[in-house]
Amino acid sequence: MRGSLPSGAAGATLKRAHPVAKRIWIAYFSLMTLRSILIHPDPRLKKVCEPVSAVTPEIGALAEDMLQTMYDAPGIGLAAPQVGVLQRLFVMDCVKDDDVAARPMVLINPEITWTSEETNTYEEGCLSIPDQYAEVTRPKTVRMAWLGLDGKSHEDEFDALWATCAQHELDHLNGTLFIDHLGRMKRQMITRRMEKLKRERARA
Ligand code: ZN
Repeated sequence: MRGSLPSGAAGATLKRAHPVAKRIWIAYFSLMTLRSILIHPDPRLKKVCEPVSAVTPEIGALAEDMLQTMYDAPGIGLAAPQVGVLQRLFVMDCVKDDDVAARPMVLINPEITWTSEETNTYEEGCLSIPDQYAEVTRPKTVRMAWLGLDGKSHEDEFDALWATCAQHELDHLNGTLFIDHLGRMKRQMITRRMEKLKRERARA
């Protein structure tokens, strides 16, 4: 997920593109590889991804590449299908404050175990749908269970921007984009813009 522009409640996400903590993290992973991010429309972004069968070193390397790719973009979440890997994992870090340490998270085979009735509306964006933002309403708080890179089960509660980001990324694993939560007209308008962007990039 890409945070919104500095207007809505989530506006702070993009204000500082490369906070110090994030730079340290990127330096730490300087040997990792930036992966290219698929741009909508792409059939791989519409697939239901397969569960990860084992937390192998290859999955660890993929997760580290995805974190570096996400920080570099910059974004606050990135799902495996966005880099063309149709497996159920995503990474996220919604820490916005320069003075707070980065909190990179890797969620493998994530599942929602509880959602609040209270909802929240954020202006969402997506690294696969560059420079397009729209308000999406989702449960304000969710509990998720997942496998960590340690191979162990984890469960935790996410609130506010973290909850929105986790749900946005989980959607990706089921072939759903944030624009699928919008009306048909708006979705088609954004899709046409992305088709134009892809044509322009192909010519460049
Ligand atoms: Zn996204």
